[in-house]
Amino acid sequence: MKTRVITISDPEQQEKEIMEAAQLLRSGQVVAFPTETVYGLGANALDAEAVGRIFKAKGRPSDNPLIVHISDISTWHKLVEAIPKKALLLADKFWPGPLTIILKKSKLVPEAVTAGLDTVGVRMPAHPAALKLIELSGVPVAAPSANISGRPSPTSAQHVIEDMNGRIPMILDGGKTEVGVESTVLDMTGSAPMVLRPGGVTVEMLQAAIGQVRIHPNVMRPVQKDEKVRSPGMKYVHYAPKAPVTLVRGELNRQVEFINKEAARLEKESKRAGILATDQTLSRYQAGIRLSMGDRENPADIAGKLFARLREFDELGVDAILAEGVEEKEEGLAVMNRIARAAGFHIIDL
Ligand code: AMP
Ligand code: MG
Repeated sequence: MKTRVITISDPEQQEKEIMEAAQLLRSGQVVAFPTETVYGLGANALDAEAVGRIFKAKGRPSDNPLIVHISDISTWHKLVEAIPKKALLLADKFWPGPLTIILKKSKLVPEAVTAGLDTVGVRMPAHPAALKLIELSGVPVAAPSANISGRPSPTSAQHVIEDMNGRIPMILDGGKTEVGVESTVLDMTGSAPMVLRPGGVTVEMLQAAIGQVRIHPNVMRPVQKDEKVRSPGMKYVHYAPKAPVTLVRGELNRQVEFINKEAARLEKESKRAGILATDQTLSRYQAGIRLSMGDRENPADIAGKLFARLREFDELGVDAILAEGVEEKEEGLAVMNRIARAAGFHIIDL
């Protein structure tokens, strides 16, 4: 299949181009498109066969549910059974934006989308091209990240091309994504709202809006054997570059010291270490290939760059990646969740 890449610089001016993508969605095909978080791979959420094409293109396990993207609140009411007050409040405050809200699904949503669960995650993305695409398609759009399953999520059209060229008919190129990590997934079906995946809308922001919000224990530690999985995505290796990743946590000077020693040890074995540092520490490393994931005082900056850096290490062909840890607060929690998962929870606590 030939993949067309269409640059969208101004969605208002480019209705014709976006309409072509919308037509593909309406005819049951998949299209990659930019959102403010990462690039999504979309299909008509009401068409089980179309949704099947997403799983096929990504190589995604069929028991991992998809998030449904909408461009107007009225669609949400049709997709779920009932919307609690707190959920309405959050949607009012954070949509369009990087927050996915999980509620009991209505009959309208096919099981292919929810992987057989009786709940559905819905969000309204903040990217103008995404909103236009959904609006013009006239249907809710199921969309996971537009990467091959297990790889780091795409934050540019180039990343999507790397993974999806020849596998899908069209990619809308809207430039680099702003947030850089996937949406916050908030389960509102239990007694207290629970964050299943941290993202651009931080736990602190949610707590300020609705009070108590819990964080699922699997955000920073692996699913144990026999543990009930609240979100199927938690089970899978994710965000992983080709080289094995080690996440180093603890006092910063000790992190630097540990990583320097480890990189030197690898060098002795004729192996190339990739060091995922921060602006503040980059110059303190001597061995290996060093990249900064951004300013550690500004975790949103790091979230924006993280996945691109992981893909760069793939291109540079390193044998092992040593990643610094950042504070697990605000956007830093999402950053640490993604690195921990990329590392398969191989974490060194100093
Ligand atoms: P992605 O599509 O790559 O952004 O991943 C979507 C994430 O949301 C995965 O971790 C899913 O397991 C999770 N998710 C989607 N829908 C649900 C749901 N109904 N219940 C629990 N988790 C969900
Ligand atoms: Mg994904």
